[in-house]
Amino acid sequence: MQFEIITIFPGFFAGIFEHGIVRRAQAEGLVTANLHDLRAFTHDRHRTVDDRPFGGGEGMVLKPEPLAEALSSIGISPLAGREYEQDSSRPRVILLSAQGRPFSQAVARELAKTKRIVLICGRYEGVDERINQLYCDMELSIGDYVLSGGELAAAVVVDTVMRLVPGVLGNEASGEFESFGVRDADIDVDLEGVPRSQHGSGGLLDYPHYTRPAEFAGLRAPEVLLNGDHQQIRRWRREQQLRKTLRNRPDLLKAASLNEGDQRLLIAIREEEGEK
Ligand code: SAM
Repeated sequence: MQFEIITIFPGFFAGIFEHGIVRRAQAEGLVTANLHDLRAFTHDRHRTVDDRPFGGGEGMVLKPEPLAEALSSIGISPLAGREYEQDSSRPRVILLSAQGRPFSQAVARELAKTKRIVLICGRYEGVDERINQLYCDMELSIGDYVLSGGELAAAVVVDTVMRLVPGVLGNEASGEFESFGVRDADIDVDLEGVPRSQHGSGGLLDYPHYTRPAEFAGLRAPEVLLNGDHQQIRRWRREQQLRKTLRNRPDLLKAASLNEGDQRLLIAIREEEGEK
C-alpha cells in the first residue's frame, strides 16, 4: 500500500513514521509513505501557498494551484464527470477536514482494500473548496474537534489503515478481534456462542488486559486469568467487553451482534449497575 501525503510540513511526519509498526511495515516494503511538500509547487519568491478568503473573514485559505500541481505530479487528474468513481484501481483522494465524514475502524477497513491513498492536509482556515470538488473522493474527519492542520489527522489515518494491510500485524487475525472488530457472525464461534478469540470482537470494545506481576500496588489481577481455564477466561473477557462498552460507549451496543448469552449478561450487568 502506498500513501501520498501532501502537506506544507513534511518534517512533521519524521518522528511519527519512525517508530513501531509503522516503521517496520515500511522497512518490510509492505507500506510506503511518500511526503510531498506543497511549497515545492509554488512559483513565487515567497513560495506562497495561501491567500485571503473571498468574501472576507478570518484567516487564510490554501490556494488551489499548488495543490492541483502537487496532485498532477503524482498522476492525479480532476475527477472529470466522476467517471473514475467505478475504477477501483484509481487511488483514493482524501481531504482531511473537520467537516468530513467521521473516520472509523469500518472506514479504515474499506480504505485498507485500496492500493494507493492520497491524503491532502489542510492548514489555516482550510483548502479552496474547488480542490475538494475537482479531485477528492471523500472528506474525512478524525473527530468532532478542530485541529490546526490535517497532518495529525493524516498520521492517524495512515497508522490505522496501515495496520490492517495483510502482513503488517504479526498475527493476521489480531486486527479483527480488537475494539470495533468485525461482527460475531464473521468470527469463528464455539458451540456455546463464545468467540474463540482471546481478543475483543463483535463490534464491542476490547476487554481489559493484565500482565505480570500478578499483584501490583495492592491490586491483584483477576483470578480467572491466572487459573488457565480458557473457557472461563473467554466468558470473563466477553462479560468485560460488554461491561466496558455499556459504561463507555453504549451507542455501540445497538450495532453490535449480541447472542442470547450476551443479552442475558447485559441484562444482569445493567441490573447490577443500577443497584450501585
Ligand atoms: N475552518 C475549518 C472548520 O471550521 O472546519 C477548520 C480548519 S483547521 C484550523 C485547518 C485544517 O486542519 C483543516 O483544513 C483540516 O485539514 C485539518 N483538520 C482540522 N480538524 C480536523 C479534523 N477533526 N479531522 C481532520 N482534519 C482536521
